[in-house]
Amino acid sequence: DALARLVDGLMRTVPDFPGPGVQFRDITPLLADADAFAQVVAALADHVYGPVDLVAGMEARGFLLAAPVAVALGAGVVPVRKAGKLPGPVASRSYALEYGSAAVEVQPFTVADGARVLVIDDVLATGGTAAATVELLESCGATVVGLSFLVELQGLGGRALLPGRDVDALLTLP
Ligand code: 5GP
Repeated sequence: DALARLVDGLMRTVPDFPGPGVQFRDITPLLADADAFAQVVAALADHVYGPVDLVAGMEARGFLLAAPVAVALGAGVVPVRKAGKLPGPVASRSYALEYGSAAVEVQPFTVADGARVLVIDDVLATGGTAAATVELLESCGATVVGLSFLVELQGLGGRALLPGRDVDALLTLP
């Protein structure tokens, strides 16, 4: 559709970033385009998951999308951060990377028991970050109502790590 074409047209594909063999999808041109950014935020906010209390965004580009979507929905925003960035108490969930592991953290006192949370990030790749984020938020008592992404890199199979979840992407790339 028109929005997917707009997103596609404003992304850069950068070979060998951040390392050899990785094709990095760079969304900064889209963020810098006032009209495109507004359309993307509106589309993310329009996807209906029912009532939403909180929008969780993953560090760092997820923050840039989660905050305006939260305002549009009348919800609060929760930063899901990499390990060691948030003052405690924190809840933490680690997940496997190709080499080693990483962890995501939130401050559990910001997530009310039973809060309905929408998770937002720029790119769904292997799904490790998103799956760990869902487990982390639900370990704090939240209900994750869905996950929305700007771009899904389908070939990396991220959806398989989110079984039974409502997952939406504005643009799906093979
Ligand atoms: P995953 O855990 O799904 O493999 O990776 C998703 C995380 O890495 C997201 O937080 C996303 O921002 C980042 N990421 C992975 N690949 C890309 C990419 O090609 N472009 C951008 N902008 N982010 C990526």
